Amino acid sequence: MSHRSGRHFLQIPGPTNVPDRVLRAIDAPTIDHRGPDFARLGLEVLEGLREVFQTSGPVVVYPSSGTGAWEAALVNTLQPGDRVLAFETGHFATLWQGMAERLGLDVRWVEGDWRHGVQPEAVQEALEADPSIAAVMVVHNETSTGVTSRIPEIRAAIDAAGSDALFLVDVISSLGSIDYRHEEWGVDVTVGGSQKGLMLPAGLGFNAVSPRAVEISKTSGSPRSYWDWAPILEANESGFWPYTSATNLLYGLREALAMLREEGLPTVFARHARHAEAARAAVEAWGLEVLAVDPRERSAVLTGVVVPEDVDADEVRRVILERFDMSLGAGLGKLKGRIFRIGHLGDFNDLMLAGTLCGVEMGLRIAGVPIEPGVPAALDVLEREPVLA
Ligand code: PLP
Repeated sequence: MSHRSGRHFLQIPGPTNVPDRVLRAIDAPTIDHRGPDFARLGLEVLEGLREVFQTSGPVVVYPSSGTGAWEAALVNTLQPGDRVLAFETGHFATLWQGMAERLGLDVRWVEGDWRHGVQPEAVQEALEADPSIAAVMVVHNETSTGVTSRIPEIRAAIDAAGSDALFLVDVISSLGSIDYRHEEWGVDVTVGGSQKGLMLPAGLGFNAVSPRAVEISKTSGSPRSYWDWAPILEANESGFWPYTSATNLLYGLREALAMLREEGLPTVFARHARHAEAARAAVEAWGLEVLAVDPRERSAVLTGVVVPEDVDADEVRRVILERFDMSLGAGLGKLKGRIFRIGHLGDFNDLMLAGTLCGVEMGLRIAGVPIEPGVPAALDVLEREPVLA
């Protein structure tokens, strides 16, 4: 492989660009994971994570990918035979549902078209029809489609149905990018990962847990060992973990949390929303379609772009990678070849987005897709002063 000058444009919707500050923080000597310096690091990151999840309760951290944190959420709170309600919003919701089935849960699966989020009315209806449902599983931001479900409205629907089902929410691609409030929105287990809005490499999985979820896990749940919250929560009280910690990732996490705090979460959320607006402006001006149908559900972290019937989206991505050294997200599952996904999350700014959209526009043209110029429409959005929502 020959050298390519300049930085690769990693515009997939995660893992995201790891900022130099985080890379430098990770690049430090490993310390004793049972020593006093480590305890300070542990306590600091556990405290900082609460800010990002917007909770006063604990956040359990695993050396795992997000998939591990999904499993932890299920096995700590539910046992085989328990009925759960889940929604087909896209590829990741489907994967989580498959996991729930393999763990012996009885999944009520509400089919969807991969262009809409979870409908609060459907949640209420399903819970009213079946009061035995023990948990509701929702993917906040469906990374495969660019559709964001409205968590507070879903919470209200659970309440309106008079249900005491646990509320389990995946924020793997929204955490640190889209406003999300674990405590205020009454979520029992929030599942996160390190490699998207938190600007870290993959390798840390998170469960923010409500007091009720912790109580239930003490007497219930499935057989588990590694994923068990109890020994982790106990060790975390003094800043440790019950096994060897991913120390260098925690260094990176400390730095990433500092960066989010310095920018301020409201500014971070507004930045993502503004970039998404600019990306959509380009897509619409190109004459292409944004996959997310409902304007209330359009993701701030990625944009799914539908290509014309006779175009293979993977061919467009191939051209863009080859010519401009930029990676875009592929269509996953049943969207393979039908869409490509532009990631605009994490450590990202206006000119990075402008460059990204220029690369997409040139790539579409080279691939023979008939489009109108779209970048000027995005620049119009970017020329406006950023404002807080
Ligand atoms: N959930 C969502 C919404 C995701 O985007 C991903 C990965 O992209 C996952 C779950 C799975 O996480 P991981 O690949 O870190 O195991």
